[in-house]
Amino acid sequence: MPRVAPPDVDRTAAAHAAVAARRARAAVKRAIHDRSRSPIEVVEAAWADPPSAPEASLRVRELLTSIPSLGPTRAARTMEQLGIAESKRVGGLGVRQRRRLLEWLEHRENRAHPTAPSRLVVLAGPTAVGKGAVSTYIRENYPDVHLSVSATTRPPRPGEVDGVNYFFVTDDEFDRLVETGQMLETATVHNAFRYGTPRAPIEKALAEGKSVLLEIDLQGARAVRAAMPEAVLVFLLPPTWEELVRRLIGRGTEDPIEQQRRLETAKTELAAQDEFDYRVVNHEVSQAAREVVELMAIPHPPSSSRPSTR
Ligand code: 5GP
Repeated sequence: MPRVAPPDVDRTAAAHAAVAARRARAAVKRAIHDRSRSPIEVVEAAWADPPSAPEASLRVRELLTSIPSLGPTRAARTMEQLGIAESKRVGGLGVRQRRRLLEWLEHRENRAHPTAPSRLVVLAGPTAVGKGAVSTYIRENYPDVHLSVSATTRPPRPGEVDGVNYFFVTDDEFDRLVETGQMLETATVHNAFRYGTPRAPIEKALAEGKSVLLEIDLQGARAVRAAMPEAVLVFLLPPTWEELVRRLIGRGTEDPIEQQRRLETAKTELAAQDEFDYRVVNHEVSQAAREVVELMAIPHPPSSSRPSTR
């Protein structure tokens, strides 16, 4: 049977409707991204009124990638785990798929806002991404968070204080700490000095119900995960590779050969980001610090000292 073309007026109306639907979906994605709506609220809206709700026509992939700190690779892996095809829309899911997706979202939400707030968070990321600046900001603005002070054999830089930035120790002292089982993990970083996380202060802080933050390298993050699987691993990302190069060269603390070596290491480190539970992009230090602290689900500091929201 020959296809009958819709009259022009219908085509125009359909095009307008398509644009309106796209805009409505974009608004839903923005709301998830800026946390004004939770993904659970969105799926519930989709399933309450499937034919017309913009939430229903959102693809599951779009829903997941709108969640802050969930990247495209992790979203794709999650969909595979849940048995949901790449092209599926939220409103088009079957009963079992809906149940699996809802359970996954609920599980994730409980992890981000646990009833028992004390937790161990590991912050890692490539060289020069700003881990040090983010953890310093947290130390100065979020006194409820216990920041682990590592031991290192590297000499102090100007302005660094023993016991605050690091415990600066000799090689022999470091050996003794390891031999007496006082270290949770240790690593030789950038093929140069040794670094390690003292175990006792962390156990004490966790026992007191405090959240603990460890700012360590990738090897350390893996070792902590193996020793304490309940630890939450957060990967700090630069906004772009070019920005990372600019930050490394801009800080001027390494010579060109060392800069090149660190950039090579950074490439390997960036490739490991999918091993982490959450990813935070360091556009700006106070915003990245706030996102990390939110993952610990501790009360915010009073509004006077609260960092501004971007
Ligand atoms: P920096 O010498 O610039 O302060 O630190 C160099 C690297 O060592 C950074 O990537 C930092 O995250 C890492 N680091 C600092 N403390 C520890 C630690 O206790 N364990 C591990 N594995 N890495 C650490």
